[in-house]
Amino acid sequence: MPTRMDDASKAGPVPDTDGKLALGWREWVALPEFDISRIKAKVDTGARTSCLHTFRTEPYTESGQRRVRFWVHPVQNDLHHVVECDAAVLDERNVSDSGGHKELRLVIETRLVLGNIEWPIEMTLTNRDSMFLSCRRAGPKDENMKIAILSRNRHLYSTRRLVEEGINRGHEVKVIDCLHCSMNITSADPRIHYHEEVLEDFDVVIPRIGASVTFYGTAVLRQFEMMGVFPVNESVAITRSRDKLRSLQLLARKGVGMPVTGFANKPDNVPELLQMVGGAPVVIKLLQGTQGIGVVLAETRKAAESVIEAFMGLKADILVQEFIKEAGGADIRCFVIGDKVIAAMKRQGGEGEFRSNLHRGGTASLVRITPEERKTAITAAKSMGLNVAGVDLLRSSRGPLVMEVNSSPGLEGIENATSKNVAGMIINWTEKNQKPWKTRTKGRG
Ligand code: ADP
Ligand code: MG
Repeated sequence: MPTRMDDASKAGPVPDTDGKLALGWREWVALPEFDISRIKAKVDTGARTSCLHTFRTEPYTESGQRRVRFWVHPVQNDLHHVVECDAAVLDERNVSDSGGHKELRLVIETRLVLGNIEWPIEMTLTNRDSMFLSCRRAGPKDENMKIAILSRNRHLYSTRRLVEEGINRGHEVKVIDCLHCSMNITSADPRIHYHEEVLEDFDVVIPRIGASVTFYGTAVLRQFEMMGVFPVNESVAITRSRDKLRSLQLLARKGVGMPVTGFANKPDNVPELLQMVGGAPVVIKLLQGTQGIGVVLAETRKAAESVIEAFMGLKADILVQEFIKEAGGADIRCFVIGDKVIAAMKRQGGEGEFRSNLHRGGTASLVRITPEERKTAITAAKSMGLNVAGVDLLRSSRGPLVMEVNSSPGLEGIENATSKNVAGMIINWTEKNQKPWKTRTKGRG
């Protein structure tokens, strides 16, 4: 049965020309906006919205508007007859199917023709006989997960992609803004309140915590962990990776290569500090900086001293690093999931810029990494305790050097540069590895 017309009677006018319109339990209808002239519909008075069975959906965004391409077989049992459709997404809605399984579905609007009447309807899209079945995990259907994505903004590329891939694989996905969560920490039964509701029954939480909300975001994540929800990245690992100095110390302990780095608190030992990292030119970094802001190249000893003194005078925490000139203004972003580098890109800074950050005008391209780079990236992610990480390497004359390990690596740059479905791979990994209570934060205390 390709379609179900659930509220034909509610959604439109009933003709009164020659009395009543009698509906059978199956009717032929047309969806003219999709050039579907005949599709069989099941009339169901019990359901609240109409539903169209698609065999593939591809949500996307155009000029800031969410749209979806989807494909249907309008003729029952004829898999060769395919119609490609495209529509604006109105909404996402949780719908229970006849088996009581909840599913988050995209909602679109279109016109429906039945006999000689026509009216607008809202329709949810659901995947049946799905082409995605092959990439779904084998196992009983009810293993579908309920996923929370901790993100401040559901319209961000990375958040949207994770939602799409989660839904495509049959999971229920909810985006939660940590700043709207409140928690009861004292109770023996930890809970999270979100707007009017209590968050319950989640299997997995995918943290996408921005640098500006690390403190509160990791607190909310910790609460999820105390409720037994599996975190794709654990709160302690995120806190660890957000502190540049702490990360570098941890990496050093694991023998991971990194630029020679010095740290000092008092301005009186600046010359010593510069000498420690091999003298000018040096890179000076604000510990709290991201996206290349607060990273300065000082070409001479004099310049370095003035910059360091200025930062220290402002009571800013800084580190001083040997400048890796041979990297040529480029770095390598290795995207690690579990114990694999699943994608890598090279970022090249603009003309005359030593910082390769895309936010600073850098450009990204596909790159082949060496086995040594691969191993370094995996060891770096592992030493942080991150399952999903963006490890940034500099190519130096003495091999790969780790600059930083990012716990919420962006998906847009890497998916565009490599054409890989990184969001899908995160969901796949999560399906295979999620288990309740599988964190280091054991118990409810
Ligand atoms: P942020 O967290 O702001 O991105 P990074 O430490 O990643 O700070 O530095 C930003 C960019 O500056 C890097 O992507 C790299 O291109 C360049 N860079 C940083 N440290 C060095 C260094 N020691 N030698 C050469 N280039 C560097
Ligand atoms: Mg960086």
